[in-house]
Amino acid sequence: MRRFARFRAWLAPALLLLPAVLILSSDLVRRWQRLPAWTAGDAVRYGIAALESAALWGGLLLLASRRRGGLRWAAAAAFVLFGALALGSERYFYDQFETYLNADAALFGAAFPASLRGQIAADATGLLGAIAVPLVYFAALAGAGRKWVRPPRRALRRGKWALVAGMASVAILPCSFRTVQAAPPDVIFLHAMGRVLQKLALGSAAHVEPGIRRPPYLPAVSPAPGPARNVLLILTESVRFDAVCTAHEPECVRSPFTNRAAPERVPFLQMRSNSSTTAISFGVLLSGLGPTETRTSIHDAPLLFDYAHAAGYDTAYLTSQHMMFAHSEEFVRDLPVSRRCGGTDLDPDADIDMGASDHLLTERANRELPLLREPWFAVVHYSSTHFPYRVVEGDEPFQPASSSKAPDDNAELLNYYQNAVYAQDRTIADLLRALRSIDAGRRTVVVYTSDHGEAFREHGQLGHTGAVLDEEIHVPAWIDAPLGTLTAEEQAHLQARAAGPTWHTDLAPTFLDLLRVGAAPELSRFHERMMGTSLLQRGPVETFVPLTNCSELWGCAFRNWGVMRGSLKLEAREWDFDWHCWDVAADPFERHDLGVGACGDLAGIAQRLLGGLPRYAAEPEGPLTSK
Ligand SMILES: [Zn+2]
Repeated sequence: MRRFARFRAWLAPALLLLPAVLILSSDLVRRWQRLPAWTAGDAVRYGIAALESAALWGGLLLLASRRRGGLRWAAAAAFVLFGALALGSERYFYDQFETYLNADAALFGAAFPASLRGQIAADATGLLGAIAVPLVYFAALAGAGRKWVRPPRRALRRGKWALVAGMASVAILPCSFRTVQAAPPDVIFLHAMGRVLQKLALGSAAHVEPGIRRPPYLPAVSPAPGPARNVLLILTESVRFDAVCTAHEPECVRSPFTNRAAPERVPFLQMRSNSSTTAISFGVLLSGLGPTETRTSIHDAPLLFDYAHAAGYDTAYLTSQHMMFAHSEEFVRDLPVSRRCGGTDLDPDADIDMGASDHLLTERANRELPLLREPWFAVVHYSSTHFPYRVVEGDEPFQPASSSKAPDDNAELLNYYQNAVYAQDRTIADLLRALRSIDAGRRTVVVYTSDHGEAFREHGQLGHTGAVLDEEIHVPAWIDAPLGTLTAEEQAHLQARAAGPTWHTDLAPTFLDLLRVGAAPELSRFHERMMGTSLLQRGPVETFVPLTNCSELWGCAFRNWGVMRGSLKLEAREWDFDWHCWDVAADPFERHDLGVGACGDLAGIAQRLLGGLPRYAAEPEGPLTSK
């Protein structure tokens, strides 16, 4: 009997500490590669947070182990449910983004409730599966506590409310939740939930996203003389470079329909978006300004529609994107267009992330483009290739396919995405064929690109906005210009630029040339602010190009940025200890980091432009925007 009592005296504290030990050991196993970069200060912060974690779960388990009273049931429920939610959600999040769900990401998600619901519903079994594992072992711990732990009655009677207050304080106390994340995942999770509750109760700054524009007055300009041409931008969503055949391939299987519909297209094999965030990329494409420009600059800049309108072109913006997403309707509300539609015009039940079905957009465009007065400029903006990816049942050649986000199902998820790209390719080809069959189609230059790419864990992360690595920013792009629409010189320059490095910042100046206003003196003060150079002109002297997913136009969930010059890319995510330097020409999968020195002055430029790596600077207060 005495031996049993001794065993219990030893077992009870061990049991109370076990949740924290399990959390810490699983965290260290997951993140051991990052530990060498930690400073002594980080280790101290982690130690303090680990003590919080131990006090929290140990205290709850102690309360849950009481022999009587209602509080023990509340404590047991809190122990099992919060434990399962915190650890399950954090593991699920880490498997997708290579970082823990922190206050920034939680507030970001809270700003998009409909999108969040859609994302959770798309992989509900994956999330529930991730929560089920800690649910089982926290429930087992609670059961063991009831059996083996004998809480000292007197101490608990007085101390229980102090314990409850202590637990709540985990949600309020500051912790290292950005950059290094020197805290166990449960502490980061509870801190994030505390911030969300605080926002709900007290309100806080709204998510930073594009607002209403204040474009300047543009004088009427006369297009330069030349062959008559209309200009169509086909802009798609989340389509990565290798998901389609950018150059014509006789046996193309990924995008066979556009491959056949535009066999003479000029492919741009090294086109990169300057951001993998839709809103930032859209602003760059339409304004020609760099992604790091201020909010005021972008809101005050003319967009391609404004230039086209000033030059007497009829204009249209047709999209299947849901315009309620991040209030994107505000940014395009005042576009000078004669025809427009958004996702909910095509389908009142359009999905917040995937928009309306892309074939509805093609039908609309096929009806409306022939009604435009020539010359015209139009943007047809697709959306169904956004996560959770709309596939067409029965038309899914890439198998086995699955919508699961579990790391083991990565190849199946990529197939699922590829099926969505395939379905979209079919409908874009329908648009191209219909366009080329009408008289105006013979005078229409088509430019095709995607707003950004999509990651499938090439560097750990899924989706987009998480990095400026090539899976997220190397995009397909081509120009299909019928015979006679370009001059021989323009054609020659286009061909010469096709294989070299190009960026989305080069497209707005290209459109101005296609609209024949690239040299208009009335527009020169706006044109000069554009970052890139027209693809219809000789290539530029090599200069640096900024890349970012955090701008004054878009508050990000966690920071990631970079700078490119030619094929050299300097890049980092906020938890990186130093910049990476990749040569994307020699190393297209970005596997061999050349070290920051190999990128020359790019680190200095990044420091000036992007504020540098947070490891060298204080963490910002408030929402994450430009730096
Ligand atoms: Zn996008």
